[in-house]
Amino acid sequence: MLPVAPLKYLSGYPEHLVHQVRSRLADGQLGPLLLRKYPQPHAVRNDGALYAYVTELRARYLRNAEPLSKVAFDGKLQTIHKALGTHTTVSRVQGGKLKTKREIRVATLFREAPAEFLRMIVVHELAHLKERQHDKAFYQLCCRMEPAYHQLEFDVRAWLCWLEVGGESLWGSCVREGPGA
Ligand SMILES: [Zn+2]
Repeated sequence: MLPVAPLKYLSGYPEHLVHQVRSRLADGQLGPLLLRKYPQPHAVRNDGALYAYVTELRARYLRNAEPLSKVAFDGKLQTIHKALGTHTTVSRVQGGKLKTKREIRVATLFREAPAEFLRMIVVHELAHLKERQHDKAFYQLCCRMEPAYHQLEFDVRAWLCWLEVGGESLWGSCVREGPGA
């Protein structure tokens, strides 16, 4: 039996949904449940493959957004910043011109995850290229890229709760990274 966690990843969700996750954590069934729902890990295993994956989605849905200069898995995310992904825009004047560098980083955690979870986090960070805040326009854009976005974000958050209380990794052997990894 796993200890009952505060479920910080689910703050803001309706109580009946949080309650379901808490019950499945308590009886140890959340992990097996997620594994049955999402049995297959994706095949995007390195930064090159991730770059290609993100670029393809960007080209399809955000044709007007500026190209990305870097896309990478980042082992420092999640453990340090408590963020799952980041998007940064660095603007600098270079030779009299304003140059903008855009990057997307995805927590290494997502390297060994189902395709649906990777898609959720990538869609989230891509949407930030156009919408900075987590507002209505932002989530509309997320849902345009992935109609099941809201369900997927909830399931990803449930997965994080599972890992938080010490649940075993579900899709790989080294899902979690130590501090500074
Ligand atoms: Zn965000």
